[in-house]
Amino acid sequence: MLILECPYCGVKAEETELTPGYEAHLKRFGPGSSDTEFEDYMFARKNPKGVHFERWRHVYGCGKWFLAARDTNTLEVFGTYPAQSSAPPADLQDKIKAKRPDWKGYK
Ligand SMILES: [Zn+2]
Repeated sequence: MLILECPYCGVKAEETELTPGYEAHLKRFGPGSSDTEFEDYMFARKNPKGVHFERWRHVYGCGKWFLAARDTNTLEVFGTYPAQSSAPPADLQDKIKAKRPDWKGYK
């Protein structure tokens, strides 16, 4: 069972209390972008075996969206942080690098 701590209300919620919002930190492309940029934004998603950043909503709790870093292979959760973040916090990235030395870092 995946358990994520909501960064807003502090509840450690099981995944049945949450709704996934898929990949975090998508760069949005709209009018004026190339067809390839727009196609990648609409359809291309990362699906790594390992460190991944995702959007989650605490739907049966405070109702807010937040972001989580976890390992898709082991289900280890590295941490959660507010949805308004444009990139994973530096301390969280340091924590991930300490646990996964082969991780290339957030791009
Ligand atoms: Zn919450």
